[in-house]
Amino acid sequence: MYSGGTSYNMQIPAIAEQSKFKGLNTIGSGDCLNSKWLNHFLSNVSKIDEGTFEHKSGTRFILTTEIEDQRRVHHLIIFPSISSIQEFRNQIKGKSPNLDTDGRCNINLRGGEILDIVKSFDGLVGPSHAFTPWTSIYKEYDSLEDCYKTKNVPFLELGLSADTQMADCISELKDVTFMTNSDAHSPWPHRIGREFNRLKVKDNSYDEIANAILRRGGNKFVLNVGIDPDLGKYHITACTRCYKKYKTRKTTEIKNRCTCGGLIKKGVAERVKELCDQEVTHPPHRPKYLKTIPLAEILVQSMGLASVNSKKVQDMWKLLIQSFKNEINVLIIASRDEIEKIAGDKVAQAIVDFREGNIHIEPGGGGMYGKISLNKKDRNQSSLDGYL
Ligand SMILES: [Zn+2]
Ligand SMILES: [Zn+2]
Repeated sequence: MYSGGTSYNMQIPAIAEQSKFKGLNTIGSGDCLNSKWLNHFLSNVSKIDEGTFEHKSGTRFILTTEIEDQRRVHHLIIFPSISSIQEFRNQIKGKSPNLDTDGRCNINLRGGEILDIVKSFDGLVGPSHAFTPWTSIYKEYDSLEDCYKTKNVPFLELGLSADTQMADCISELKDVTFMTNSDAHSPWPHRIGREFNRLKVKDNSYDEIANAILRRGGNKFVLNVGIDPDLGKYHITACTRCYKKYKTRKTTEIKNRCTCGGLIKKGVAERVKELCDQEVTHPPHRPKYLKTIPLAEILVQSMGLASVNSKKVQDMWKLLIQSFKNEINVLIIASRDEIEKIAGDKVAQAIVDFREGNIHIEPGGGGMYGKISLNKKDRNQSSLDGYL
């Protein structure tokens, strides 16, 4: 709640409760370098071990933050303990103007320098939302090594606009664990846990999770669940003011300026295509990637309503969650008949359409999320037709 654009309701008890409805059992604390947030966090959880904490609802947390480096590249850091947070703060003293006034602070160091500090206390660091056009590693560099001065980077966050199918055409990523994480700026059900990972671990503690990221002792990621990349805000190259979509070749001719005068931002699909140096090759450790659409978005469309914040959508979402325990059960497991009994034919059909890949998505770009359409006539059109 101390990050720009983050809701005041985004507090630990609300996050912990909402995460349970999503079927998540462990989440990142976020913003743990901010001492006010860290105090709020610690007063709401009990310690399981140095790097693992639990809210009374049963939701567990590990210590995470995103930071922005000197070149405006975002990194995710996972800390093994509270004392390592203190150590990191000491080592960057004088290098951050907003350590305690923002949730995601700026640090006046390069990626490689940050990686060295994190390694000194056995923490983990990797690129956040790796392909997005404003603040990601690949908007700034053409390789991980250019940023970190080493090829040995444990993980990379794919971000909402990319998936495994896209990223596995980049050969330098073959040993990197892909994470499908999403941040949330409000605890609404369509925002929290939009993406998540399933891990093979003995229990959900920091050490076990770190071992899964590093693929040690048989621990590993067994499923990446991410929203359909077409729904991401920066999937396609588009104007950031009027959201008109462009082909990349055209954008260089017109110097990245839209006819409306707005700035055109390169889409993730385009950037991945530029970086691509091999046929899509999934290394043996790579888990399956499951594309999802947030249930609230499916409800808005199937109920013919305007917004995910409408009370009818929220009420239907709650009813379905009460009936099937969590969102993943509704989207993936519950039978059509069971859903129909509770939510009616239109909602049940929309969920079946989602399962069968029959929902058309108008891709997002320029900062606007993609839009889903249940309209039958849109379905046979490929979402990227005409854009790449
Ligand atoms: Zn970020
Ligand atoms: Zn424009």
